[in-house]
Amino acid sequence: MPQFTYQVIRSRRLTAGISLSIHPEKGLVVKAPFWVPNLMIRNFVEEKADWIREHQAKIKPALPEKRYEAGEKHLYFGQEYSLVLLPHEIPIRSRAEIVGDELHLSFFNGHLGSKKTEEIKEAILRFYLETGIGILTEKVNYFSSQIGVEYSQIDIKKVSSIWGSCSASNKLSFNRKLIMAPHEVVDYVIIHEVAHLVHRNHSSRFWGLVARYDPHYREHRRWLHRNHLLLSI
Ligand SMILES: [Zn+2]
Repeated sequence: MPQFTYQVIRSRRLTAGISLSIHPEKGLVVKAPFWVPNLMIRNFVEEKADWIREHQAKIKPALPEKRYEAGEKHLYFGQEYSLVLLPHEIPIRSRAEIVGDELHLSFFNGHLGSKKTEEIKEAILRFYLETGIGILTEKVNYFSSQIGVEYSQIDIKKVSSIWGSCSASNKLSFNRKLIMAPHEVVDYVIIHEVAHLVHRNHSSRFWGLVARYDPHYREHRRWLHRNHLLLSI
C-alpha cells in the first residue's frame, strides 16, 4: 500500500523532472512528463515522504484549542460572541445565554482547573444543542412546507464530515457543527436535505430544486468546504 494518495499531472515535456506540491484542496500533486512510468513516480513520492509529512502538517490551518476563558470568541450561527464568565459561590446548574454580543456563562465556582473548564464547556454545548435544535427545526419546517414535502423526524448528530443526511424513512439528520455556521449556509444544508425528499440523488433536477430555494448554493457549499475547521463543537 502506498502511504500517500496523490494526483498526477502529465506534461508533454521530454526532459526528466518530477515535481511535487501540496494544495490545501487538491492535496498532493505530482507533475511529471508523459513518458515517466507510474512506478518511477511512486518511488519518487516515497523518497520524499519526510518532506511531504512535514509540509502536510504545516498546511493544516492551526486552529487554536478552545480554552474557555473570559473574552474568548465563540461562534453561534455565524456570529462571534465574547465569553463572559459569571462564577457563583453556591452550587447552581451551569447555564449559558446570549446577551447582546456576549455569551454569558453562569456556573458554580467550586471546581478548579480542568474540571472547571469541563463544566463551562458542557454548559456551552448544552446551550448550543438545546437552542440549536429549535432553530434548525423551524428552518426545516419552513423549507419543507415551501417545497411541499414532509419529513418524519429531525436528528442532530455529532459527526465529523457529513453535514446532513436524509434516510429512506424520511428522517433528516444534521451535523451539530452547523449551529456555528452562518444562517445562509445552514439554510443551504437544510434545503439540500429537504430536496432529497423529492429527488433521492444528485441529478440536475435535484440541483435545480436546490437552486430555486438557494440561488447561491455553490457559494455556501464552498464556504463549508473552506471553513469546516472553524466549526468545532
Ligand atoms: Zn445530497
